[in-house]
Amino acid sequence: MVTTRGCPFHCRFCVSKSIFKKYRSRSAENVIKEFEEIAKEYDSVFVVDDNFLFEKKRAEKIMDLLIEKQLNIEIWIAGIRVTDADANLFKKMKKAGVKSVEFGIESGNQEVLNYYDKKITLDQIRNAVALSKKTGFLTIGNFILGAPIETEKHMDDSINFAKELNLDFAFFYPYSYLKGSALWEDAFQKGIVKETDLFLMNNSREGLGNLSLEIFRNKIAEAYQRFYFSPRYLLSQLIRQVFVYKNFRVFYTGLKLFLQQKEGSVFESINT
Ligand code: SF4
Repeated sequence: MVTTRGCPFHCRFCVSKSIFKKYRSRSAENVIKEFEEIAKEYDSVFVVDDNFLFEKKRAEKIMDLLIEKQLNIEIWIAGIRVTDADANLFKKMKKAGVKSVEFGIESGNQEVLNYYDKKITLDQIRNAVALSKKTGFLTIGNFILGAPIETEKHMDDSINFAKELNLDFAFFYPYSYLKGSALWEDAFQKGIVKETDLFLMNNSREGLGNLSLEIFRNKIAEAYQRFYFSPRYLLSQLIRQVFVYKNFRVFYTGLKLFLQQKEGSVFESINT
């Protein structure tokens, strides 16, 4: 479900601005009508907005209406900025049926966050994730590994930070030059990418970034391995998924991945 289009921020890796031009939103009443329609047939919905909480008053009104209408629907929200974490709003969201929130964390290194012009700090990320977990949301963090300025050390900082945050799920996306982003434009001005290059993975052999494709791919695989297969993560997830979220399906999927990893098959798709 989409309740807003675009985003007023200008993170340099992102293409939201060039796709949607300017931020616009649907009214709370209009959004609720769609929730009501969905709730007749489905028991969960994924809101895929880039920046759902940008207009806090609108988000709060949506939550108030969801509570008032008592729609029995589980809501998963992607695209929340850590700067919008708010205890009262989170409480209301929980009451309204929000099950999970997803933060664009991007990096565990402040230099890289500044390079992206993300306008967030590591402490703001720590506070937002802690608040989300305290509220009882399934808390997901999205990272990008391999910005043009990144070395292996920067990527290690992100992996260590994801582990420190003790997120329920972390996704590590490989940095790519996307046409429409400010970083693609910079690279284009320098003659590193061509007009026809819409999507280019970081690769030092082609003058893109500091890392060879091999190092880059191995680091992504290492990130998943180190995050998901640490004893601390497995134990805390076992407790949270079964006793807090009563979510046995996620636990069994995790167990399956763990067993596949032991047999060495889970990272094949990343390495091919
Ligand atoms: S990364 Fe997120 S916050 Fe930044 S411009 Fe894109 S949608 Fe907005």
